[in-house]
Amino acid sequence: MAPILDKKTDRPFIISGPCSAESREQILHMARELSSRGVDLFRAGLWKPRTRPHLFEGVGEEGLDWLVEAKEETGIRVAIEVANTRHVELALEKGIDTVWIGARTSANPFSVQEIADALRGVKIPVFIKNPINPDLRLWMGAVERMRHAGIEELGLIHRGFSFFNTDKYRNSPLWQIPIDMRAEMPEVMMICDVSHICGQRNLLQDVAQAAMDLGFDGLMIETHPDPENAKTDSAQQITPSDFDRLLSSLVIRTESVSALSDHKEVNDLRRQIDALDEDLVELLGVRMQLAERIGDIKDQYSIPVLQPARWQAVLKKARLNAQKKGLSADFIEELFKAMHQESIHHQLLVMNSRVETK
Ligand code: PEP
Ligand code: MN
Repeated sequence: MAPILDKKTDRPFIISGPCSAESREQILHMARELSSRGVDLFRAGLWKPRTRPHLFEGVGEEGLDWLVEAKEETGIRVAIEVANTRHVELALEKGIDTVWIGARTSANPFSVQEIADALRGVKIPVFIKNPINPDLRLWMGAVERMRHAGIEELGLIHRGFSFFNTDKYRNSPLWQIPIDMRAEMPEVMMICDVSHICGQRNLLQDVAQAAMDLGFDGLMIETHPDPENAKTDSAQQITPSDFDRLLSSLVIRTESVSALSDHKEVNDLRRQIDALDEDLVELLGVRMQLAERIGDIKDQYSIPVLQPARWQAVLKKARLNAQKKGLSADFIEELFKAMHQESIHHQLLVMNSRVETK
């Protein structure tokens, strides 16, 4: 049988359906709408991992029959989230095509192992969402647990990372983490769950486009017949017609990397970028040497390494300069924080070596 997760298509692999299964009618209606649009996998959550217990926690086992009925009627493949052995057993017993491990579960190696054991030897595809915290190794560990259990068809879902102080997104995308994950596991399909990253409808288009531009293999998009009245995640779900608009506005770049490798201008630009990157590292080295010399002087005068007023002034100046160059405030702040951290580290090294030689 052909694998469900085929990376080699020139169109994105689409997973869509409601956040939660709410009724038989809703599931059948959405499965009809989405199968006629060529959606690859129909999703619906049956057991919902809610932050607080009095909220709607899903219809549970009952929803399995609705999904099976939807699958039999429309032919669409169906996927649910599993968080424990019981969920896996029920999914397999009923003939669910694919399961995914949610972000709260993938953060817990005990749970991932339990699910891997329950899936041992089973031939269905398994998607693994990134853990809620930005820990690449934890995500990789979840994949490894599945592989050790003999799961061959694996997919990854990037759904952003949760922070106490959130920015405009519900879960910050921190693109570097899925990019690093892709570099570690280039053969594994990587889907972007734009709905859980955005948390609100109006951001979906831009994030979906960013995911396509970054070479993701597909998208997960939550859809609902009446998003305003959805029992979960109502602000981020969209109707089938908004889903059509979103997909038809996407620019899909299908040209392969090899086409670019012969492009003279791109090659020239890349050479310039490589040279600049080398210079940047060189300059950072020089900056750290200067910091070390200051560290030495601070040590002689018994001044603490951290000088908050000086640091604020450095940051303020950098923000102003960055603005003139069209660089985002977030970027420059992150960059300077990292540089400052490294400077402090170098200064402490200088001080400690002096203590050791005293
Ligand atoms: C979901 O996809 O319904 C879900 C709960 O997502 P996450 O695990 O990414 O929060
Ligand atoms: Mn949801």
